Amino acid sequence: MPFSKLGLSDPLLRAIADAGYSTPSPIQLQAIPAVLNGHDLLAAAQTGTGKTAGFALPILHRLSQHNYGANRPVRVLILTPTRELAAQVGESVSKYGAHLHPRLKTEVVFGGVKINPQMMRLRGGVDVLVATPGRLLDLINQNAVKLDKVETLVLDEADRMLDMGFIRDIRKIIALLPKKRQNLLFSATFSEDIRKLTTGLLVNPIKIEVAARNTAAETVEQIAYLCNKAGKAELLCHLIKSNDWQQVLVFTSTKHGANRLTEKLNKINIKAAAIHGNKSQGARTSALSGFKAGEIRVLVATDVAARGIDIALLPHVVNYELPRAPADYVHRIGRTGRAGEEGQAISLVSHDEVAALRMVEKLIGKPIKREQIAGFEAAEVAPPMPPEPPRAPRPPRNSSQARKPSGNASKKPRARSSV
Ligand code: AMP
Repeated sequence: MPFSKLGLSDPLLRAIADAGYSTPSPIQLQAIPAVLNGHDLLAAAQTGTGKTAGFALPILHRLSQHNYGANRPVRVLILTPTRELAAQVGESVSKYGAHLHPRLKTEVVFGGVKINPQMMRLRGGVDVLVATPGRLLDLINQNAVKLDKVETLVLDEADRMLDMGFIRDIRKIIALLPKKRQNLLFSATFSEDIRKLTTGLLVNPIKIEVAARNTAAETVEQIAYLCNKAGKAELLCHLIKSNDWQQVLVFTSTKHGANRLTEKLNKINIKAAAIHGNKSQGARTSALSGFKAGEIRVLVATDVAARGIDIALLPHVVNYELPRAPADYVHRIGRTGRAGEEGQAISLVSHDEVAALRMVEKLIGKPIKREQIAGFEAAEVAPPMPPEPPRAPRPPRNSSQARKPSGNASKKPRARSSV
């Protein structure tokens, strides 16, 4: 079904054409009519599915149907977990609303930057406010914004907001909204906490599930390279150089790990930048735009910072460390293989991460190919418990040896049988 059959107004259809979208994605097919009809929505969808347009287009359609007063109260509130996602959602809303007359005003507010300019920008009134919960509460406390005319509330990446401890802030914000309103909740996973939040928030919601992202990966080749923890940086450099990867997103589990890896890569002239919560907003934005522009070859990110980053058609994603929560693996690799393009998701898995790898496989419902690279094989490492057993001598490097599936290798039976 084409976009033109979904009931969206002409100015929105023109914006869709400008964006170059030819057909609605599965979530858009389901969400757009539901939101246009005023329903609440409970959507299992994550970044990469086209969910932003799925809610932004029908919301803009509804907003532009009736007049607003001169003082422009906030009529749509979109809460997101991170600054990056807030900025991207704000950009999308502005882009999709570009041809509406009169123009709707969209503002984005998030923490980590000065509050005063945000207060100034809110002064003239805004129609659509995209915010992270903590900063929004600060602005409310300073009387910079009122929420008593909100018609539609969107909770984007609700699971991540709860993971980040925003539940109390969210509840406080919800308490300030009019009782009668439309609620749209997007979440990649549905934990008990999400279920609790949705009860009492959503009224007879239309439920939408886009299975695509958990199985995301039909077009994504997933490989786990079994290796030693200490050899991961070297292995990553080898992969980047030998495959001539030009744009690769690497996930580490800690901010320090991200910094250390970035330094190592830069030292050997692989241009890299880190993005994580300790970096200033300016540093994060410039790292991201440098990466998008191809000036930075490797973007090293932690899960929280990378959440919601939209980089079109990323060919390679590397899990330098596997995430603690298996669902994060799905989020991470959702950044490659978009729109049917092929992508590669590589995980560097050391002995102590094998259990995490199995959890991921359980979640995605299929095994991940295990391989080893000659010269970087997983050594026979015992669990980190004294006394350490003697290590087997490292096999000699042989760079002429190509990738070797783990099943064929015979040098390290103990390590392999444990994976
Ligand atoms: P989202 O899941 O909202 O973060 O969107 C992921 C990416 O898909 C963004 O780059 C959008 O611009 C793009 N996109 C959204 N809808 C469509 C569509 N119908 N056709 C092609 N690309 C789309």
